[in-house]
Amino acid sequence: MNPEAARALHICNVCRYCSDLCPVFEAGPLRPDMTDGDVAYLANLCHNCQACYYSCQYAPPHELVVNLPAALSEAREAGRQHYSGTAWLGREGLWVWGITLLIPLLMLVQVPWDRLFAVHRGPGAFYELIPWGWMTLVATLALARAVFVLARGGYRFWRDSAGPEVASQPLREGPLIRDLVSLRHLGGGDGAGCHDRDGQTGHARRIAHQVLVAGFALCFVATSVGTLYHHVFDWIAPYPVMSVPGVSGTLGGLMITGGGAFMLWLHYTRDDRPRAKAPDSRSRLLVQLLMVVALTGLILQALRETPAMGLLLGLHLGAVLAFFLVLPQGKSAHAVYRLLALIRFHRERR
Ligand code: SF4
Ligand code: SF4
Repeated sequence: MNPEAARALHICNVCRYCSDLCPVFEAGPLRPDMTDGDVAYLANLCHNCQACYYSCQYAPPHELVVNLPAALSEAREAGRQHYSGTAWLGREGLWVWGITLLIPLLMLVQVPWDRLFAVHRGPGAFYELIPWGWMTLVATLALARAVFVLARGGYRFWRDSAGPEVASQPLREGPLIRDLVSLRHLGGGDGAGCHDRDGQTGHARRIAHQVLVAGFALCFVATSVGTLYHHVFDWIAPYPVMSVPGVSGTLGGLMITGGGAFMLWLHYTRDDRPRAKAPDSRSRLLVQLLMVVALTGLILQALRETPAMGLLLGLHLGAVLAFFLVLPQGKSAHAVYRLLALIRFHRERR
């Protein structure tokens, strides 16, 4: 799946210089064969803090050209595509923005313009332009596909990453949850943080990531509570700004936008050398897509009683659809594989 990552990990297993930096160097020696499953497992233990690149005595210009962060980044992406059975088709920017624009373009063609650009107010305003049944059907199908593909990919990953038999111990949930929630392995071994700005250590990337994830969780709460309101209480969207869906959706949207902008800034100011070009640009695309989902949601909230509501609604739903469709092979899927890799690591740890 990724011979360069396997080659670099073999060298690391002999060298052992970075053994204190992160779990990759603790788990690597337990995988002497470096099968595809082993590489996928180790790649998902890596949080891409880049500390090992700056510590490495065999990094370029050395003739062994060990660039472990870049090799593991490539391996993570190859693993996501392999286990999910989906692939990037090339020109992913065109696909993502094409799908995003699909719904507003369809609305321009299908909905009479005097209705599309009219002012709609009160409960059910959105459904006067896109029937509730269609909206729910398309979103449910796209999300169900993503969940199914991710679950299948997670199962395949778990099966392939079993490795040689090692003494396993009961899972210690405490350290696992601490590692997950705090992104401890972005600490670069000594806790100084990852190399996020031209090789200097700091916690900016960890903070930006956590703000974005918390914003995503708040938007999930807004959607779930809105679904509950609709089906249980028969309260129809759009909901007031000062309601649970309104407050959590607005706060979540602001956090995704802010965290995403910070992440993009870090992307553009980081040292290029320990990075893998294609996964990096797809990761940026995903952050941009999430920001479009959040921004269109926020603008829709602000302008929902104006003639712009129809096209803003279409754009927001188009971006959500594009996000669901790229979810299994996109960067967001790393949450599933990283969780499984950390569970395995904490069980195998001696
Ligand atoms: S990254 Fe370089 S220095 Fe660190 S263990 Fe691997 S080969 Fe050795
Ligand atoms: S980049 Fe950081 S997390 Fe990844 S292998 Fe190197 S030290 Fe470990």
